Parts: sequence; C-alpha cells; structure tokens
Amino acid sequence: MLPQERAEKILTLGQAGWSVRAIADQLGHSPQTIRDYLNGRTTPGVPAPRPSLLTSPFADYCRQRFAEDSNLRPKALFNEVIELGFSGSRATFYRELRRRLLFPPGHRQSPTQQDLSGTSRLFVHAPGHAPVLPRPVVPITGETLISYLTRLALANHLTLTEVLTVLPSWFATKVSNRDDRAQHHMLIPATAGALHALAHLTRTTPVGLTHALPAFGITDTYGLVRATTACHRCTARRGIHQPVPVHLPAHHKVCTRHGIWLSDADHPHLDLAACPEIITAQYRANRLLRRYTPQQLTLAHQAATRIIPPWPASPAVIPLHWRHRLLTLQTTNHHRAIPTDHDIYTDAAIYPDAIELAAGILNPAAHNPARSNGETLRSEGRHQP
Ligand SMILES: [Zn+2]
Repeated sequence: MLPQERAEKILTLGQAGWSVRAIADQLGHSPQTIRDYLNGRTTPGVPAPRPSLLTSPFADYCRQRFAEDSNLRPKALFNEVIELGFSGSRATFYRELRRRLLFPPGHRQSPTQQDLSGTSRLFVHAPGHAPVLPRPVVPITGETLISYLTRLALANHLTLTEVLTVLPSWFATKVSNRDDRAQHHMLIPATAGALHALAHLTRTTPVGLTHALPAFGITDTYGLVRATTACHRCTARRGIHQPVPVHLPAHHKVCTRHGIWLSDADHPHLDLAACPEIITAQYRANRLLRRYTPQQLTLAHQAATRIIPPWPASPAVIPLHWRHRLLTLQTTNHHRAIPTDHDIYTDAAIYPDAIELAAGILNPAAHNPARSNGETLRSEGRHQP
C-alpha cells in the first residue's frame, strides 16, 4: 500500500488537472494504481496493489545517482527509491537494475588494495609517545580520506605509506576501500580511536575532522552525495593547487562564493560569472531542500531536464532560452579548452530552467509561472519550517 502522503499527492495532482498518465510517470506507479485512487476504489491508508517494476522516472533517478556517485551501493540506492515511493522488494529492485543495465561499468570491481608492504623507512617515535607532524594540514569539506592523508604526507615530506605506519590500522583498511564512506561494522568500534589519533598527529580537532571528512561521517547528512572536486578557488585560498576529490551533497552543484560550476568528478569546472542566474538557481535548490528531501529534489530535477524545450520557440525568446546561456558559458570558458559539445556545458546551462521546473513538479498546486519570480520566492519562504 502507498504511504498516506503519496496517496494524497495523487489526489492533489488529479485535482490540479494532471492526467492519469502524467501522474503515473511523475510518481512512478502504474496508471491503474493512480486510477484506483482517483476513482476512490482505493483510499489513502488502505492497502493498494503493489507495482513491482522500476518505472522510467525511478530508472532515470538510478542512472543519475550512479553517474554522480560511482561508489553508490545498490543497498543505499534501494533505500533512496523506497523513500520516494518505490514499493517493490529488494530482489525486484536488483533484478530491474540488472535488466535495465543500470549498474555502472566496473561497479562490482574489487577494491584497490594499497600496497603497504614496501615500508622502507619507518617513522621513528618513542613507544607510548604518539608522534605529531610538524606541518598541520587543514582538511577540505567532503575530502576523501586518501586525498587528505596524501596531502598531509606531501606537506611533511613523507610518503603515504609512512603516514599510515604511524596511524592505527583502521586507516590502512579504510583507504584500501574504494568508498571511504562505507562504514564496515568491524571498523566502527575503532573509529573514535582512529579519529583522535589523526587529530593528534595533525594537531587538528576531532570535531573539525569529523565535519570535513566523510570517512568519519557518523551522521547521515552524507546520505545523498556525488563525487566531484572541490572548488579550485576555495582550495587555492588555502594554498592548495592540485585537485581535491570530495564528496558533496548531491544537489550542491555550484560554489556560490566563487560562482564555479562543480562538474562531476574528473570533469573540468566552469566559471559562471557571466551567468549569475545559475548561481541564483543553486540558492533556490537549497531553499527547496527545506521542504523536500534530497531524493525528491533529484527525482524532480531529472524529470525536469526531460521537459525543457530543446530550442527556442521563436527568435524573440532566444535571449531567454538556455541555448543563449550555453553560448555565453562556452565563450567565457573558452580558455579552459573544454570541447564545446561537452555535457557539462549543457548541464550548467539548463540548470536554472531545470530548478524552476523541478519546483513546479514538486509543488504543482502552488506553482504558477505567470507570477513574478519574487512572489514565487516569497511563497516558498512562507513554508519554511
Ligand atoms: Zn569556491
């Protein structure tokens, strides 16, 4: 049976004039289920037939999540779609992922093993007296553990292996994992000790490390993340000039401080100075998260990208169309030598339209495109918790 809130959403969308097909596509249930609710054959709170298949919006959602987080575990993804209303079993979900070839390539590869046997020079320190590194290194928010330890080693003219030698074995196990956010039950009891050892070694605080490094993340705020590299201007301010791999909340696409589009991992960033509406859209997405879960926003964002008009309807609206923005981005980022057909340009260019449409998808009753932007923002503000 559908959760009460979902059943009510069906009724709301129906009253707003949505077709059965549109609601079914939007919410990921069968048209028959939607019809049963709209016709009153099924009422909220009463068991309904269970759709077993992963519908297109859910499949798109899964594809998107695997693309932005290649280490995402299917188990975690299953929990995300359940929260969005998928009511199939876990076995059904896995079967559908396989059937639709949604597992990313190489997903089941075994973890890369760090070779720890080649320790030639041991870090010398008196027994019972934990060493402290001369140069402290501040972690970047969302930084992967291996990146932080590597920077720490470099700053102190050591190798990663040498740094690992003076840390509890927790670290060697952790960095040999492809995904350092995975909290293996065998490692959890030793996490607090490991945290304090690293804080001591680096002369930082456990709180600061926990806040910055997802490897210590005990909170679930890192539930929906994507892999990217930290804003290069943010890191340059700290004297770091190499890319810093980070895991950021999935909706976090823009460094609003510097106006930088944070592309997915291994792709170049874009300068957004010439397109401030993209930065504004990031603020809007942040506001939407006060009322909706990251999963709901991601699903709506995915659905929105499919309904954005590919071309301007008339020459008069060209300056307002995202293709105009696309051209501006390509021109202003020309010096980065990114191929002009690279997806990141499109992703960034359509972002304001996608967030605008996503807001409407999430709350169709309150969404009225005729209103001015300012009024829409105020209406969102009224519903702040
Ligand atoms: Zn920045």
